[in-house]
Amino acid sequence: MAVLLSTKPAAMQVWRDALLALDPALEIRMFPDAGDPAGIEAAVVWTSHDMAELRRYPNLKLIVSMGAGVDHLLRPPGPPPGIPVARLVDRMLTSQMGEWVLLNVLRFHRQDLEYRALQSARIWEELPAPVTAERRIGILGLGELGRHAAGLLRGLGFPVMGWTRRPRTMEGVETFHGAEGLAAMAARSDILICLLPLTPETRGVMNARLFGLLPPGAFVINGARGGHLVDADLLAALEAGQVAGAALDVFQPEPLPPDHPFWGHPKVIMTPHAASITIPASAAPQVVENIHRARAGQPLLNLVDFSTGY
Ligand code: NDP
Repeated sequence: MAVLLSTKPAAMQVWRDALLALDPALEIRMFPDAGDPAGIEAAVVWTSHDMAELRRYPNLKLIVSMGAGVDHLLRPPGPPPGIPVARLVDRMLTSQMGEWVLLNVLRFHRQDLEYRALQSARIWEELPAPVTAERRIGILGLGELGRHAAGLLRGLGFPVMGWTRRPRTMEGVETFHGAEGLAAMAARSDILICLLPLTPETRGVMNARLFGLLPPGAFVINGARGGHLVDADLLAALEAGQVAGAALDVFQPEPLPPDHPFWGHPKVIMTPHAASITIPASAAPQVVENIHRARAGQPLLNLVDFSTGY
């Protein structure tokens, strides 16, 4: 039985080598050269793969996402009925996102937007010293990525809060959940960071209402999905000064069209969905383990819960 790989051609070769380094007996087929559809037992796919296409493989036992987010895979038509989907939970994905969050929190905390503007104008001016213990940070989502970022920020001395779907606890982090919890946390978030999965419940969560609850002059950071943010509401909040700056890694659509106002906005820092990039050699062990488990009928790792969408 074979494993079907589907991603960009250059990445496919790297994935193939990473999987074979761990299990040389694997038969790897690279999409679109799938061969006999009956021979495919697992599909390891990038988020752009067409889920309808996976219905061609009658003996498919497992779908593995090459990323941490699975929103693209779950939207209609969704995976073939009854086939489990596993996502990546990977140390390198988590640490890269932690670095990107720190980069942008420190950029806003240390007044980097203002200092860059002063430098452009050749003005030598010292701004008031920022106080770490007074810069309150709220994180939407305390999962693999959110908890790690929360720990890093705690380590630097920031007061950190986190918002989840179910009640959660984390040492040193004040936690909130549900709609009331979101409002309470937002009202105290000088920097609001989104690290949520994109689900029907979280789509558009960063909207005018939420921005209106933030302390005036707060900062917004989105490392999750473009669908969490209502672009027009952020632009209006920036215009009004309610939000003083935003760091965005994810957009809707991607790539962001060249005429989108974010590109040239002086208060918007952009990266092209590059906050955290899958490194196949790091992610491959859990993929091979899951293929072996699927063959043996054992419980799978990092399974997506279709009822919650993450
Ligand atoms: P997890 O599934 O580990 O964590 C998700 C967190 O979000 C959990 O704490 C969960 O709450 C919370 N959550 C989900 N739904 C809701 C809701 N309706 N209300 C409140 N909280 C909610 O995900 P990860 O941390 O691994 O990843 C998060 C997302 O980051 C991914 O889905 C992906 O979209 C994005 N991502 C972006 C990357 C980039 O390069 N920009 C790279 C990798 C991921 P609970 O604890 O109660 O379950």
